[in-house]
Amino acid sequence: MYQCQHFSLHELLPRVVYQQRGEKGWALLDERLLVTLDRLRKRYGSITVNNWLWGGEREWSGLRTPDSPFYSRYSQHSFGRAADCLFGAVTVDEVREDILTRLDEPVYQYIQSVEMGVSWLHFDVRNGCRVETYWP
Ligand SMILES: [Zn+2]
Repeated sequence: MYQCQHFSLHELLPRVVYQQRGEKGWALLDERLLVTLDRLRKRYGSITVNNWLWGGEREWSGLRTPDSPFYSRYSQHSFGRAADCLFGAVTVDEVREDILTRLDEPVYQYIQSVEMGVSWLHFDVRNGCRVETYWP
């Protein structure tokens, strides 16, 4: 089982899921998502996904369950295959540009889709044709 080196599980799960499943919660997240998060962290430095444990507002930026105000049945977030990332050292536009122009680099190996025009990096590891972009 892959567990992130650079992210704690509570950064990727909502509060209730983390409380109910504990470390078993890793199994709810796609391995390709977790590998890619670690690779992005190594390349770009600090990344925020969820921060609810530290009193932040972000609880639904990794896995989403039906009790989320942002829940959508067919969102990749609902299957543990998507994350919304904020970067500390670079802008999200820089990261998106890098992904879309350097798709062949190993760091981006599993990224299948990127959301455009938003102030965070949404990427996911869906079964798709690299790389799908979409607007909100
Ligand atoms: Zn997203």
